[in-house]
Amino acid sequence: MTDLHEQRGLLARACRVAAARGLVDGILGHLSMRVDDERLLIRCRSDTDSGVAFTQPSDIRLIRFDGTEAAAGELDGYRVPNELAIHVETLLAQPHQRAVAHLHPAAVVAADLAGITLRPIYGAYDIAGARLARDGVPVYERAVLIRNPLLGKEMVAAMRGQPIVICRGHGITSAATSVQQAVLQAISLDALAKMSLRVRAAGGSLHDIDDRDWDDLPDLGPGFNVDAAWRYEVARIE
Ligand SMILES: [Zn+2]
Repeated sequence: MTDLHEQRGLLARACRVAAARGLVDGILGHLSMRVDDERLLIRCRSDTDSGVAFTQPSDIRLIRFDGTEAAAGELDGYRVPNELAIHVETLLAQPHQRAVAHLHPAAVVAADLAGITLRPIYGAYDIAGARLARDGVPVYERAVLIRNPLLGKEMVAAMRGQPIVICRGHGITSAATSVQQAVLQAISLDALAKMSLRVRAAGGSLHDIDDRDWDDLPDLGPGFNVDAAWRYEVARIE
């Protein structure tokens, strides 16, 4: 049970990090984590909810993949998000992933609506972000509320097995092996969208970095990309 307690704390903190980074506004957006083959922890809603930026560990509830409570009392006073299908279908389709972040980053939505394809336009500025865009960032072209398994499966199909998908006129879904990574890659995608918009606003055009530069843009490993980056994200909100 201590494990679950820690995981609720981690998910709540991750919600606050995402909100502090402007990846969600108000009460929209949610994060989840696979517990086992039948259960997940997910940010739920309640009548006293003050929004994602103020998520408490008690807002993180243990449910089954079918949306019912996984232990007595888990959904007393709490409701699963309307878009539960985003989490369930992503976790079912990508068994190697453990966490899902569904967020509404304005810059990513704006860039997509402006017809900007997110590409690796920079390198060492943010290697993780550049790598994320190297093979293209998939787009789910429907702006719908993903409120049933059919729409969830449609979004997952558009995701093409990649860790992140842009939902047009809506937001993003980011899947990863950890909650930290799911949020960090959303932060990276948001930074890339902001830079793309900025270059365009300055009158420039967007070009992929030179192919040979990839040889010197190494994966700096989880110690740097996740652990250190996460310590910073937590420190800036506390
Ligand atoms: Zn949404």
